[in-house]
Amino acid sequence: MHILTFDIEEWFHLFDNSFTDDVSQWGGYESRIYSNMDRLFLLLEKKSQSATFFCLGWIAEKYPNIIREITKRGYEIGSHTDIHQLVYKQTAHQFREDLIRSLRVIEDITGRKVKYFRAPGFSITEGNKWAFEVLFEQGIEIDCSVFPAAHAYGGFPSYKVPLPSIICYNGIIIKELPINYHTIFSKQIIYSGGGYFRLFPYPLIKYWSNKSDYIMTYFHPRDFDPDQPVIKELSLSRRFKSYVGLKSAEKKFENFLHDFDFIDIAKADSLIDWSKAPKVQL
Ligand SMILES: [Zn+2]
Repeated sequence: MHILTFDIEEWFHLFDNSFTDDVSQWGGYESRIYSNMDRLFLLLEKKSQSATFFCLGWIAEKYPNIIREITKRGYEIGSHTDIHQLVYKQTAHQFREDLIRSLRVIEDITGRKVKYFRAPGFSITEGNKWAFEVLFEQGIEIDCSVFPAAHAYGGFPSYKVPLPSIICYNGIIIKELPINYHTIFSKQIIYSGGGYFRLFPYPLIKYWSNKSDYIMTYFHPRDFDPDQPVIKELSLSRRFKSYVGLKSAEKKFENFLHDFDFIDIAKADSLIDWSKAPKVQL
């Protein structure tokens, strides 16, 4: 099962820099979302692949045509929150309000209930598990926020189940489709999205993907945009991870789409026998 997902945000939606931090300025920055979305649509159509798009409410509000286009082309939409804040920096109240804003704006455009969610920066962690209660309460049926390894901004290394699983927490249950990893010498290697996908040579990604029964990908429109502005304030390591391999990423991604058949979250949901999925008590 190879699941294809994208987090729909702009080139400046990275963390720890003044571009991202000051939401009131976002509208003034160069927008690259239309051209980057066109590139994605072309790639997907060429290979007849399905995908789920986790969209920011901010994007939906400012560029509703993007949401309409995703829907018109038959792809699914989930929420990636409204203004791309790290969940562990928010209170439960702030997270709930932000999530509700994103759901309202997306649902107003599509006329359909949003059932899927991914947190910015995989920022649901051991310390803010209450986020699952908020997601459940707002009608989210499947969460894709668990990064079961160390991560710069989030990560849930204690999750230990890089497979479709059922989260049980404080009386609620929610289906989880976490990011997968490949294990080498007991070290978890993530390779199915973002900077990791751009960093590793494609033959290695293909080899690891062939060895895995379950792959959850996560890409962004900017991952294939070599001409995006570079945010110079980022730390050196962050800058490396954000911009490494941009020039060759489109070709690499095209090969990935050629070599594997991908499905969206609804299809994955229908194929998984949830009664046999591991239950993870948090
Ligand atoms: Zn994001």
